[in-house]
Amino acid sequence: MGLIYRRFLDGHSRVYCCSECKTHLSHSEALMSKAFQGHHGRAWLFHDVVNIIQGQPQDRPMTTGQHTVCDIFCINCQAVLGWKYVCTGFFAPGPFAIHPWSLT
Ligand SMILES: [Zn+2]
Repeated sequence: MGLIYRRFLDGHSRVYCCSECKTHLSHSEALMSKAFQGHHGRAWLFHDVVNIIQGQPQDRPMTTGQHTVCDIFCINCQAVLGWKYVCTGFFAPGPFAIHPWSLT
């Protein structure tokens, strides 16, 4: 009880962590773009993110059109990190958009 299993990322040139609690979230090899503009501002796109909780899927109007997305939260401190694309005609399903200010 109370123990949260967290993965640690190793062997990457740069590991991105939660700015609140330093939980490992993703790494430089999974970073797709730093130039993405989301509905709440700038976001970085990753194709692989660990140690997150996903919220309920919602249809949301985005800058690239209507997409089905889930909010994503840090598994440790529950900080809102960004969102994940579930269903989209613009990207292949799966990319995670994370606000740069949520990362350290
Ligand atoms: Zn955290």
